[in-house]
Amino acid sequence: MSNNTIGMSDKSSLFPTYNRYPITLVKGEGSRLWDENGREYLDFMSGLAVTNLGHVPEQVKARLTEQLDSLWHVSNLFHIPQQEQAAKLLTERSCADAVFFCNSGAEANEAAIKLARRYHQKIANTGRYEVITFEQSFHGRTLATLTATGQDKVKDGFSPLPDGFRCVPYNDIQALEAVITDKTCAIMLEIVQAEGGVIPITAEFAEAVANLCAVHGLLLIIDEVQTGVGRTGRWFAHEHFGLKPDIFTVAKGLGSGFPVGAMLAKQYLRDAFGPGTHGTTFGGTPIAMAAVIGTLETHIEERIPERVAEISSYLLAQLHQKLGANPKVKAIRGMGLIVGIEYDGAAGDMIAQMHQEGLLVVSAGPNVIRLLPSLRVTKEDINAAVAIIERVLAEQTAQVG
Ligand SMILES: *Cc1c(COP(=O)(O)O)cnc(C)c1O
Repeated sequence: MSNNTIGMSDKSSLFPTYNRYPITLVKGEGSRLWDENGREYLDFMSGLAVTNLGHVPEQVKARLTEQLDSLWHVSNLFHIPQQEQAAKLLTERSCADAVFFCNSGAEANEAAIKLARRYHQKIANTGRYEVITFEQSFHGRTLATLTATGQDKVKDGFSPLPDGFRCVPYNDIQALEAVITDKTCAIMLEIVQAEGGVIPITAEFAEAVANLCAVHGLLLIIDEVQTGVGRTGRWFAHEHFGLKPDIFTVAKGLGSGFPVGAMLAKQYLRDAFGPGTHGTTFGGTPIAMAAVIGTLETHIEERIPERVAEISSYLLAQLHQKLGANPKVKAIRGMGLIVGIEYDGAAGDMIAQMHQEGLLVVSAGPNVIRLLPSLRVTKEDINAAVAIIERVLAEQTAQVG
């Protein structure tokens, strides 16, 4: 057995940045994964909201295969028609008018922060630079995005951090109002704080944020890296609240597993990112764009956002029905197919036990079990997953007493 993680990490040539689960996955198809011993798993984490169309989706594979045969990489010093096509698919379905393609969520957020500052400094000429973010948020691991992140553990040991960020409690209108000054250039937030414990924004807070941005001339940046592209039952989660962000970012589900991110913004922000202001070698290569186009076309053809809105009510109803009586289940919450089960106690052992029983789920903070199934998940798969969750939670609750 190569499951001996201690032995593996001793000999590993990798940085030990991850506490890895003792499972080695070698094959995937739809909502199923298989490990090196041929054991089958039901995937309810989707590579952390990445493989939203399931593993190896046919339409995306066809687009990628076609592109692999003709051209892999072109410098952004040339026109790349696939980028225009992918950007059109995104802007036609959102409030945005312009897209910058990059390679990850952190890069997309980094671009968003840079764009907000540059707009205020070079176009609006206000000189403002400060970005307000929220406790428990997660925005990435680069120096600027970890500074924006509202969790101390991701900042530990990396000082000095960049200047110009303020962090306040989430869903707290007074706290937000209190830190707005003539230095504030933007408010940056998630619609569902995913890594922070699956905490959705309240309707009152969403409305207050929009009003404060309008009153004080602040840019609204929404981090949709985990919630975007259908995950919550809308194309983008901010639509649930009628928000029209000046800037928003997507990444995880955008390429069905191919690494790609995007920053999207309103028309009037375009000139703030003129030639030479920002860039990335790999952003928007023909291969990445084939993955994006294949992914978005599939979402459109299969009406994935509508499907998610429907099937997620079934998942929530099943969870409430089967877990509702468990006294240790403190809350079941989420939006679309990002769902958190808050447990009265540590979730780690239960997650390991679910893996043992063939269901892959992930935590969101110490006490929350997070479900991120494929957006094409079936009722049968939901029934199977909920049965395992119910059993493991019942056993654990009985043991703990
Ligand atoms: C995952 C995530 C990021 C970071 O994305 P990377 O691709 O890992 O850089 C940023 N924001 C949110 C909300 C995320 O879930």
